[in-house]
Amino acid sequence: MMEKKVALVTGASRGIGKAIAIALAQRGIDIAINYRSNEKEAREVMKLVKKEGQAAMLAPADVADFQHCREMVKQVVDYFGRVDILVNNAGIRADNLLARMKEEDWEKVLHTNLNGVYNCTRSVMRSLLKQKNGGRIINIASISGIYGNAGQANYAAAKAGVIGFTKSVAKEVGARGITVNAVAPGFIQTEMTEDLSENLKQEAVRAIPLGRFGKVEEVAEVVVFLATKGSYITGQVISVDGGLVI
Ligand code: NDP
Repeated sequence: MMEKKVALVTGASRGIGKAIAIALAQRGIDIAINYRSNEKEAREVMKLVKKEGQAAMLAPADVADFQHCREMVKQVVDYFGRVDILVNNAGIRADNLLARMKEEDWEKVLHTNLNGVYNCTRSVMRSLLKQKNGGRIINIASISGIYGNAGQANYAAAKAGVIGFTKSVAKEVGARGITVNAVAPGFIQTEMTEDLSENLKQEAVRAIPLGRFGKVEEVAEVVVFLATKGSYITGQVISVDGGLVI
């Protein structure tokens, strides 16, 4: 019998990560739900995964902290006996024009959005290589990392870094059957975009050929494809942005 696959999804308590966790569970995959502080919502996600008939565990850790990530991955592997898929989704933003950007806002965005991807991928890689059964890594980048965005120098730098990381690691581990891809969402309806000004939202919608913000499920379905199909796709960046960047 084929062993059940296990996915670790970072930042799975809310937004896009939550939708990814549920969509993977709907494909028969067991889920480790990472979050930083929102245990209540993470427990809700655990219930939803179990409702789909899959096993789930909570995996709290600050992805910006390498030691936390090491310990988290160890707990996941101890619990499930394996890990096959890593979705690096946890992310924050702290927007400001560069002239006003505090060093602290630069650092926290880089630490979470870029170092976090290194910390989790590095921690999972050992298990993937040891299992000798391939593996899938999917990094949630952003169109800001492709075309830049005024007011997001920190965020765009981190996401561009994630794209460079994705391409490099794809070249390193391809021979082991491990694929590494990035998904670059545009404007998606989550708490992260809720507090954008009405003006900015309207301006964005006018620039999007599909004429609306995306839904979390529309990002999740691309992640599911890369995690369960897409066996000959690696090192790619797939935009899910309603055509904003064409
Ligand atoms: P949300 O703000 O809705 O959710 C963020 C999630 O990340 C939460 O689960 C949060 O956990 C977790 N998180 C934040 N910091 C850490 C940390 N240091 N360690 C562990 N978990 C952490 O974000 P979205 O769902 O909107 O965004 C998800 C990803 O998609 C991010 O990488 C973001 O940059 C990217 N993205 C989003 C876009 C959008 O329009 N929404 C557009 C382009 C990219 P907790 O609940 O515990 O705080």
